[in-house]
Amino acid sequence: MRRRPSAPSLIVAVCGALIAIVMVSLCAVTLYQGRKDALNHARDTLRDIALIAQRDIERNFELYELSLQAAVDGLQQPDVMALPPRLRREVLFDRAASAKYLGSMLVLDAAGNIVIDSASDTPRQGNFADRQYFIVQRDNPNAGLYVSDPYASRLRSGSPSIALSRRLSHPDGSFAGVVVMAVNIEYFHDLFAGLSLVGPHGSMSLIGKNGVMIMRQPYGVQVVGRNIKGASTFQRFMSAPSGSFSETASLDGTRRLYWFANFPRVPLIIMVAAAEQDIYAAWRRRALTIGSLMLAFGSAFVALSVLLGAQLRRRMRAESELQLLARTDGLTGLNNRRSLGEILDREWRRAKRTRSVLSLLFVDIDWFKAYNDAYGHQTGDDALAAVARCIAENIRRPADTAARYGGEEFVVVLPNTPESGASEIAERIRRAIFERGIEHAGSEYGRVTASIGTVSWEPRTDDDVTAVIKAADEALYNAKATGRNRVARSQIA
Ligand code: GH3
Ligand code: MG
Ligand code: MG
Repeated sequence: MRRRPSAPSLIVAVCGALIAIVMVSLCAVTLYQGRKDALNHARDTLRDIALIAQRDIERNFELYELSLQAAVDGLQQPDVMALPPRLRREVLFDRAASAKYLGSMLVLDAAGNIVIDSASDTPRQGNFADRQYFIVQRDNPNAGLYVSDPYASRLRSGSPSIALSRRLSHPDGSFAGVVVMAVNIEYFHDLFAGLSLVGPHGSMSLIGKNGVMIMRQPYGVQVVGRNIKGASTFQRFMSAPSGSFSETASLDGTRRLYWFANFPRVPLIIMVAAAEQDIYAAWRRRALTIGSLMLAFGSAFVALSVLLGAQLRRRMRAESELQLLARTDGLTGLNNRRSLGEILDREWRRAKRTRSVLSLLFVDIDWFKAYNDAYGHQTGDDALAAVARCIAENIRRPADTAARYGGEEFVVVLPNTPESGASEIAERIRRAIFERGIEHAGSEYGRVTASIGTVSWEPRTDDDVTAVIKAADEALYNAKATGRNRVARSQIA
């Protein structure tokens, strides 16, 4: 029943490993959650930025649209048209026409010539029949409010603008001209510049639904007016009213998180993007700190576990050695009397339970007092040890046990062994001692011999183990009485 000394240290190792796994898992889950949070937070921020820009643009466009509509309405009233140019201008073009970022508001006739100019009583010279906003309105009676692609304004020395236009129709529906308002794209530039992007690699764009770039932050002159219709990102902008996705930009190989929204009433798309390297920058720093701390703690933990395991192993070994010592007879190395008591008790109960035969041998060295007297106590001890070896070497089954009963007497316990087996083993032991040939002048046989009493017993409920020992002792007495150096069976069982 001796416990293996490695078992507790194995438990320590397994517990240590389990705790380490739990710690690492917790850490991993926390970091993973943190990463997800960073992404969600970035998405929220992108959406907020897009919303702010979108609201600003929508509100301004609404005002522009109202101004355009007011002009269209006024142009259809003969009273207004009959007013002197200065008054007419004031009626047709409200104060919005003079707002910042707005170019002049023009009324063009069916040929594209300026007929009324918000900027002066005598209209400036100019024909815009080639402009996209003019052609669209001319060819399409239902174009409504048309937002043009960026172009270089001719009236304002090439400054980049987009035009908002409405069609003028004759009562019969035929094309009468266009009212147009130019919005300097500086408006978008300034609007975007006032919004801070997410990280140094972020970007923000205002794109026409036809794929033409109107403004981009960071700003580059060459991006305005570029068509990105073919880009895969643009396809996704068109696929839903608003949303977000991650994609690697083919241009710079940077993976970005995009948020986009289509304007509900104007053919524009707003897009805000943040590079994942920026989104995760703070998280990465934190992960690195936590990771290093984790590594340090983990190593310390593992080292401590190993130390603790080793310590425990040492203690267990020492303890089991002590236990062994407490159960062993110092001279012979066999079980001592105390241990024999436990073993007998256990085997007795087992035999009772399994209804098997328990055999016992009682071994006693012959004329040993004489041996001691003749050869001295020390030599006597050596002879005792030699006899013990003869006994130990001749029991084979793991359950068989030999013990020193006291003095020059030994007991062998043979569980589940019938009388024939017990006699055989006893005889083997007797012969082994005899054949050892230890000189003993005081013996009839001239050498050290032993007498052995055997008993084989199937325990019944009311039996006691002491009765068995007594029976074995009696058998031994018979062996002594009938000449020694022999095996005698108990007659009781
Ligand atoms: P018998 O053949 O009837 O058994 O005679 P015996 O002399 O062996 O029996 P007895 O019981 O009279 O003597 C036992 C002797 O064993 C007494 C003692 O001298 C010796 N003896 C007992 N224990 C030890 C021991 O630990 N060491 C040594 N050297 N001798 C011991
Ligand atoms: Mg004796
Ligand atoms: Mg004796």
